[in-house]
Amino acid sequence: MSNLEEHIRIAKQKFHQALQDTAPEAWETLKNTFLARKGIIAELFAMLAECTPEEKRHYGKTLNELKNEITEQIERLKSKVEFQLRPKRLDPTLPGKPYPYPRVHPLTQTLNRIVDTFARMGFVVEEGPELETAYYNFDALNTPIWHPAREKSDTLYILNSTSEYELLRTETSPVQIHALEKRGVPIRIISPGRVYRNDKPDATHSPVFHQVEGLCVDEKISMADLKGTLLGFYRAMLGSRIEIRFRPHFFPFTEPSAEVDVTCPFCYGNGCRICKQSGYIEMGGSGMVHPNVLKGVGVDMEKYSGFAFGLGVERLAMLLHGVDDIRLFYENDLRFLEQFA
Ligand SMILES: [Zn+2]
Repeated sequence: MSNLEEHIRIAKQKFHQALQDTAPEAWETLKNTFLARKGIIAELFAMLAECTPEEKRHYGKTLNELKNEITEQIERLKSKVEFQLRPKRLDPTLPGKPYPYPRVHPLTQTLNRIVDTFARMGFVVEEGPELETAYYNFDALNTPIWHPAREKSDTLYILNSTSEYELLRTETSPVQIHALEKRGVPIRIISPGRVYRNDKPDATHSPVFHQVEGLCVDEKISMADLKGTLLGFYRAMLGSRIEIRFRPHFFPFTEPSAEVDVTCPFCYGNGCRICKQSGYIEMGGSGMVHPNVLKGVGVDMEKYSGFAFGLGVERLAMLLHGVDDIRLFYENDLRFLEQFA
C-alpha cells in the first residue's frame, strides 16, 4: 500500500496551502476539511485497514504526526482570533486620549495684540454696524460726491427692504462718527472690524478684510501726538528698532493727511525682498481730522482738534508671521492654522 505514503504527502501539502489561503477567522473551515469525522485525515486512517501490520505501524505513526501538526496549527489560529476578539477591559490607570487644544485664529491673535497695545495708551474699543448708509460711510467723512470710492466698482451696495441703497462699510471710520454723535469729545477710541470692498481675491486682496481705525479728539492735539502714538504702537508690535515715516497723501476725512511707513522688520531699512529693497513697508493712512468732519458732529473747533489713523489687520499679521498670501487666513486649512500656537 505504498500509495498511502503519496496520499499522506499530498494531504500535508494541501493543508499547508490551505493554511496560507485561509483567513484566521475561518479556522473552523480548516478544521472541518481536515479533522472532521469524514475529513481528509479520517479517510487516510480508514485506508490503514487494508495495510499489512508492518505498514500499519509505519503509516499509523506518520499519520498521527500529521494529525497532531494540523491540530496544533488550527488551535494556534483559533487562539489568535479569540485574542483579537477578546472584550477590551477598561484600564482606568491609562492616560486619556489627548484632546485637541483649541487655538486662537492668527487674525484674532493679531487683533488682540493691537487692541491690548492701544488700550495701554488709553484707547477704548468702539464697534459699529457693518451695514451702513452712504451718510456715515462717505458724507459725514467729508468724501465728495464724485469720489471714486463711492463707485459700484469699489463699494458693495445693498438694496434694503424700503428700496433704499445701503452699503457694506468700506472702512471702520463710520464708527468714529457714531461714537462722536453718541459720546462727544474728548474721545480716544479704536474701532476694529470687518470691512468690504468690491475686489477680486488674490495674494494681497480680499473682498472682506479687517481694519482698525483710531480716533483721538481732545484739546491741543497735534500731528506730533499722532506720530508719537503710531511710533509707540508699531514699536510695541514689531520691535524697538522700528522707525516710522510720514509721506504726504490725500484722504477726504483728514487734513493734512499722511501715509504711514514703518522700517522693514526683516532688514531694518537695508532693503530686502519683503520690502522690495525700499527698507520701508506701507502700513496705512493717517492725518489730522478734517474740520468738516468735526463741524458735522458739532465739535467746538476753537477748543478741540484730533487725529485719526487706520491700519489693516491682515497686513500686520502677514508681516508678523511671514505669511505671503492673504487667502491663507480664510481657507480654514488646519495645517496652516495649527502653526499659530
Ligand atoms: Zn526689508
